[in-house]
Amino acid sequence: MTDEPSSSTEIRHAPLAGVIGLPIAHSRSPRLHGHWLKRYGIEGSYLAMPVRPEHLADVLRVLPRAGFVGLNVTIPHKEAVLTLADVVTDRAALIGAANTLIFRPDGKIHADNTDGYGFIANLRQNAPDWDPQAGPAAVIGAGGAARAVVASLLDSGVRELRITNRTRIRSEQIKAEFGARLVVYDWAQAGNMLEGAATVVNATSLGMTGKQALRVPLDALSSDALVTDLVYTPLMTPLLIEARQRGCRVVDGLGMLLHQAAPGFERWFGQRPEVDEETRQVLLE
Ligand code: NAP
Repeated sequence: MTDEPSSSTEIRHAPLAGVIGLPIAHSRSPRLHGHWLKRYGIEGSYLAMPVRPEHLADVLRVLPRAGFVGLNVTIPHKEAVLTLADVVTDRAALIGAANTLIFRPDGKIHADNTDGYGFIANLRQNAPDWDPQAGPAAVIGAGGAARAVVASLLDSGVRELRITNRTRIRSEQIKAEFGARLVVYDWAQAGNMLEGAATVVNATSLGMTGKQALRVPLDALSSDALVTDLVYTPLMTPLLIEARQRGCRVVDGLGMLLHQAAPGFERWFGQRPEVDEETRQVLLE
């Protein structure tokens, strides 16, 4: 006789979730989800796992069998998981990338993108009187995060969305996919697109610690504009510092990181987590 359960015996254990990427050691997600698990007294774990692209399909097949209920996905797997998922939400398909997977009890993998949700939730929380229809939005950058920002701004009712990117073809591509409300500006004329803009977003990695600064001139920026940066290291980027000096409302990018994590946590662990000052402090420690 053996004490091991037979294959038909149901194995019950606390739910597991995590984040996969490469590299992954820098991820703050385990700290964030670990904080929420503790706060709500939930028995469960959230792990950071380095996964090579050639192992991605195997990992997604095996983890549900090992008790995982879902994953966050980061670079370089955000696009590839779409081809491996059974169900892809419309917004993930439109953005062309997923950051949240749910391993459903029926064995299907559900892929979603919550970056756009996190972006808007951050603005709503930290600039409650922000009105997406107050005037044109100006998005600097055309990478993966910019696509999520564009989708969510259009969803929120922005009537004109101006976009610029160092590699112009990427902003042209976004316009081709997202439609007539977009206007492409040349990178060399990026300052001009701030004229009359009500919402200004840096969705490039410029301004991040160790990277070059964003050099778009802010002379045309109105003091009525709301300015936000996806970069959150440092919290107050040179863009936000200068915009604040010019009288603009500014919102840092940390709240987006916190809010984009909430839907996944709720689906995996059954509790909608609150994003508040205490949660922010956990990531700033
Ligand atoms: P990505 O797909 O690699 O795109 C990078 C963007 O930055 C592109 O528009 C790229 O322009 C631009 N860029 C990079 N180096 C540049 C340079 N030297 N000069 C001009 N433009 C440059 O990255 P991503 O996923 O979109 O992320 C963009 C930033 O957002 C990162 O800093 C990331 O950490 C941050 N982010 C924050 C959150 C949050 O929750 N706050 C969420 C997602 C992302 P080209 O196309 O010309 O290369």
